[in-house]
Parts: sequence; structure tokens; C-alpha cells
Amino acid sequence: MSEKFDVIVIGAGPAGYVAAIRAAQLGLKTACVDAFTGKDGKQALGGTCLNVGCIPSKALLDSSRQFWNIAHNFPVHGISVDNPKVDMATFIGRKDKIVKQFTGGIGQLFKANKVTAFYGKGKLLGRGKDGGNEVEITGSDGARQTISAANVILASGSVPIELPFAKFDGKAIVDNAGALDFTEVPKRLGVIGAGVIGLELGSVWKRLGAEVTIIEALPEFLAAADADIAKIAAKEFAKQGLSIKLNAKLNKAEAKKDGVHLTYTDKDGEQSLVVDKLLVAVGRRAYTDGLLAENAGVKLDERGRIVVDEHNHTGVDGVWAIGDAVRGPMLAHKGSEEGVAVAEWIAGKAGHINYDTIPWVIYTEPEIAWAGKTERELKDAGIPYKVGTFPFAAIGRAVAMNEAVGQVKMLAHAETDRLLGVHMVGPGVSELIAEAVVTMEFKGSAEDLARIVHAHPTLSEAVHEAALSVDKRAIHKGN
Ligand code: FAD
Ligand code: NAD
Repeated sequence: MSEKFDVIVIGAGPAGYVAAIRAAQLGLKTACVDAFTGKDGKQALGGTCLNVGCIPSKALLDSSRQFWNIAHNFPVHGISVDNPKVDMATFIGRKDKIVKQFTGGIGQLFKANKVTAFYGKGKLLGRGKDGGNEVEITGSDGARQTISAANVILASGSVPIELPFAKFDGKAIVDNAGALDFTEVPKRLGVIGAGVIGLELGSVWKRLGAEVTIIEALPEFLAAADADIAKIAAKEFAKQGLSIKLNAKLNKAEAKKDGVHLTYTDKDGEQSLVVDKLLVAVGRRAYTDGLLAENAGVKLDERGRIVVDEHNHTGVDGVWAIGDAVRGPMLAHKGSEEGVAVAEWIAGKAGHINYDTIPWVIYTEPEIAWAGKTERELKDAGIPYKVGTFPFAAIGRAVAMNEAVGQVKMLAHAETDRLLGVHMVGPGVSELIAEAVVTMEFKGSAEDLARIVHAHPTLSEAVHEAALSVDKRAIHKGN
């Protein structure tokens, strides 16, 4: 007889572990199956995000930023430091400690919420004799067991896309996990893809002294962001010495004794480049390898993602899917919100997720953040809009911090003034974007933001002034 649960979650990333905790909070007997093995050879809960994604990348971004500041920011404040050095063992060790703290923390949360964690590869078998959905778990030793539940939530996440002509070897040609674990600063780092990972991890190693060349296939830089914001960011990255080659198509990458030899084609024809390490960051694909038995009935779309309806239901009775494995942006907070919503739907409650207000943040220097529509999207949709902008150069706090770069751009409906999109590049915008999200979630207007008191002197005054600027009445700039 297989052990029975109310809910089985396959995958303990930010989508799966959050779904499991919420389901348990709602009184459902819950199991969570995950196969991720940490650096210590033991189960490490938290998925890509905690182990090789959001958390370790932010740890290294913060460490590298401290080092960069010594040479590029301290002198402005009258502080000088002779001959600063980075101890790589401490640099990477600090990151590993943070990862362990948080992956271990999920284990404690599971215990506190009475979620049963299974370590192994989960496979949805389909309906068992008792009518429950059966999941087979294969442990690292090959031992198998079957558990069952009325509801199964698939949260198997995503993995990096591998290019056939630049295959990962884990040493010279690496994915995100490899680029979070270099044992020394590469003298020359090549990056394929000027997307979120390329920019964040490219910045980490640039700040420590690597010569970084990013090769991007598209002719436009950061096409998903608002064009004005992307333009400002591109200028700042160029000033920092990040070399970003647009409209450049990689033809081949080959690891040799003296480095990785690349050939790529740009507007001037075929080019070659030799680097010490190559990070390939050209996007991620939904990961469903070994997840579904042949007759489980769950469908995949043309991009290999699990097909779900607007309630994240797969169409197979009692089978749901969330996070990077399904449509929508591959973001931790998107997966977590889906996890909460699905657990609530299973428990017969009113789950909710608003895909229109999911914030995006890129943790570079300056940071980039946005929520809602870009100006181009509004134009293409024929929606009439007004624009307000405000530069951080006119914000006292930003100048005092010596970080007066970038701007806040606000888009509001031309007739109703409803806030449709907010786009930022500058200091601390990863935090400032929350105000825009809350306003949009409450269907607020630019005037609502303009009428709210913002503390002085703070970076949030840029949000306030941009809202005033929508109505051509910003105080600290010409309108
Ligand atoms: P995952 O986190 O991928 O977790 C899936 C889990 O399921 C894994 O542990 C996997 O081992 C397990 N699994 C898969 N199949 C099975 C199976 N059959 N049986 C058992 N276990 C299985 N997002 C942000 O929002 N902010 C950021 O700052 C950010 N930074 C990132 C930085 C990097 C370098 C990377 C790579 C990603 C980053 N992301 C960020 C994206 C974020 O990590 C993902 O969107 C998020 O982890 C997706 O969560 P998930 O739970 O759907 O999947
Ligand atoms: P991405 O989609 O952000 O960027 C990939 C880039 O590679 C694109 O600009 C694309 O045009 C380019 N590209 C694709 N094929 C190419 C080729 N053959 N040659 C050159 N360029 C090519 O993907 P990513 O950076 O790998 O990140 C994956 C996902 O992880 C992101 O989409 C995001 O959802 C998530 N992530 C989020 C954060 C964050 O929220 N701060 C950080 C890292 C990752």
C-alpha cells in the first residue's frame, strides 16, 4: 500500500516549496519530493533559486560591489585604500554559507509546517487502483517507492539551454552554476547572451577585474525593458567597461589549452575571440525529463512547457503545474505566487494571481526594475498614454550617495490617469518598484502617487516627482 497524502509537490524550488507550505498551512497532508543535491552531497531544498540562482548571484553581486566601490566610489568620499585584494576562498565561501543557511531554512520550515520531504526523483505515474494520483520516487541509491495523493503539483523548474556548438564542459564553458563558482577571477570572460544572467554575472566578474565581452544575438539591447531605460543602462554598462556586442551570432566555441576560442558573426563579418572562461546564458527551458509517465496524460507545448489553464490546472484530474515549468516569466516570485494560489484552489479557497503586475528586477549597477507595460507595448496596442520622468541626478539622497544615475519613467492612461507601467534604472530601484506594483494592483492613478507624502531626503522622491511630472508639475525639474 502506498503512503497517502492530500497533496504531493514535485520540486522544492520557490514555486514548489511555497506551494507545499501553503497547502500544509491549509490543513492538507503534504509531501514534497526534490532531487537537488547540494555541494555537500546531501539534499538541498530551494531549487535553482536558492542553490544556483537568485540568492548566490545576489551574494556575489554584493561582495563584488564592495570591491568595486573601493576603487570607483571611495575616492569621491575622500577615502583611499592601498592595494585592495579579494580572497577568492572567502568570496565564494561566504556565498556558499548563505546558500546553506537558506536551503537548510526550507528544511526547518517543512518540519515546522509538517511537510514530509522526500529526497529523490519524482515521476507522475497516473491514477492508482484507489483513485489517487501516484508518484514514484527514485532515490539516489536507485531504491523506489510510490506515494499517492488526490492532488499533485508539478514544480520541476527549468535548466539552462545548451547550445550544440558551445556545449557545457563545467570547466571552461559553463552555465550559471559554473559562473558562480570560479576559483579565480578569469582574466578574459566571454558571455553569450546579454540577458539577465549575462548582465548580472558578467557584472560580478567585471567588478573583480575580468575583461568581459558579452555577445548578444539581437540587434536591440534588453529588448524586454522599456527602450529609454535600456538606453540609459547600456550607457552605464559601457562606462563600467562591459563590452556588449549586439547583433552578434556565435558560430562556434571550442575549449583549447590557451582558452576558449570563439567565432561569431556581426555586421562586419566573422570575428574571433579567445577567452579564459565562457558563460553561456541564452535562456532556460522548462525541465520535465523523467517527470511524467507515458500515460500520465499531461501535455507539453512546443517549447516543452507543461500546458496549464488560467488556474494552473493541467486538464488531468488533480494535476497542477507551476513556476518555470509552465508559461509566463521565469521568476521566483511568479512561481511562489502560483504555488500559493494553487494550494488555495485545492483547499477550495479563492486563490489569486495578477500576471499584469509582476515586477522585473535586474540587479546590476545601476539596478533596472519595471512593472506593467512599456511605452512600445502601449503604442502597439493603441492605448493613449501620458509620460512622466524624473532623473536621480536631481534627487538629493542619490547625489549624497554618489549614485545619481538613471531615472524613473511613469506611463499613465491619457484619459483616466490610471498607472499602466513604471520603469526605473538607478540606485535602489529593486525596492522602489514595490510602490508602483502596489499602486497598479489597487488600480491607482499617477495622481494617487503624486498626492502621497514621500519622506525627504529619500530615493522614493524620484517616484513622487515622476508621478507629478505625468501632469507636468514636477517641482525639482523643468516640465
Ligand atoms: P526551480 O527553482 O528550478 O526548482 C525546481 C526543483 O525541482 C529543483 O530543485 C529540481 O532539482 C527539482 N526537480 C525537477 N524535476 C524533479 C523531479 N522529477 N523530481 C524531483 N525533483 C525535481 N528569479 C528572480 O525572481 N529573481 C532573481 O534575482 C533571479 N536570479 C536568478 C539568477 C540565476 C543565476 C538564475 C539561473 C535564475 C534566477 N532567477 C531569478 C530565476 C529563478 O531562479 C527561477 O525563476 C525559479 O527558481 C523558478 O522556481 P521553480 O520552483 O519553478 O523551479
Ligand atoms: P534571458 O532570456 O534573460 O537572456 C538570454 C539572452 O540571450 C537574450 O538576450 C537572447 O537574445 C540571447 N541569445 C539567445 N540565443 C543566443 C545566441 N545563440 N547567441 C547570442 N545570444 C543569444 O535568459 P538568461 O539570462 O539565461 O536567464 C534565464 C532566465 O532566468 C531569465 O529570463 C529570467 O527569467 C531568469 N533570471 C532572472 C533574474 C532576475 O530576476 N534578476 C536573474 C537571472 C535570471
